[in-house]
Amino acid sequence: MKLDIKNLSHTYDIEVLHDLSFQLEGKRSLALLGQSGSGKSTLLRILAGLEKPTLGEVMFNDKRVTDPEYRKGVGFVFQSHNLFPHLTLLDNITLVLEKTRGFTKEAAHKRAMENLATLQLDDQAHKAPRNVSGGQAQRASIARALSVDPEVIFLDEPTSSLDPILTNDVLTAVEELRDSGKDFVFATHVMSFVRDFADYVIFMYKGKIVEHGPPEIMDGPKSEEMRSFMSKVR
Ligand code: ADP
Ligand code: MG
Repeated sequence: MKLDIKNLSHTYDIEVLHDLSFQLEGKRSLALLGQSGSGKSTLLRILAGLEKPTLGEVMFNDKRVTDPEYRKGVGFVFQSHNLFPHLTLLDNITLVLEKTRGFTKEAAHKRAMENLATLQLDDQAHKAPRNVSGGQAQRASIARALSVDPEVIFLDEPTSSLDPILTNDVLTAVEELRDSGKDFVFATHVMSFVRDFADYVIFMYKGKIVEHGPPEIMDGPKSEEMRSFMSKVR
């Protein structure tokens, strides 16, 4: 990935991201760490083009994230699956492909089944989200994000609603996408996953980037803020 953030600030009722500038090139998998409220989700949504920043400029893979075209190259997986409850896992994916990407019914079916198989869900394709486990539903969300063949996949604490076993299933499935050629940007509190999967880490505190570097920085934080955070999550 190539990321270029210039003087990014974001305000809701108060400012929650404060004049961030950051560049990164040649990494595949970027983790955002930080305690709740530090701004991870806001930054992820801005990077994914889901939210327009109040100030500043953000380029991802040489595209301006506020360009409408940019959104088409992006997949997003939310904290808890946001599948349509009245549709099967399969139809949740074919709907997106048919309505937003102009796939024929047949092509959408083929693509969706391939993506479900990648996430080991081909045998669950005809079930509704409520009839599968939380981990399977979240894997279906990942299959749906993958189905549009995005350049980059954003995951915002994709396992925060899951128990440890299901968390492991979902994160293992993400790790298996390592060689898919896609870029990954994610927030998580599962530090073992960050160590295994991330090749770069950003630590945020109160709307600022306090430290960044390879995952090894987790073992020797320079700042008191990150040291304190790491001592709580380990
Ligand atoms: P994190 O994902 O690290 O928990 P967030 O980006 O969700 O952090 O939140 C950063 C700050 O922005 C918090 O103070 C939060 O309350 C605030 N915030 C997030 N989303 C909204 C919103 N839609 N409206 C108002 N305030 C928000
Ligand atoms: Mg969040």
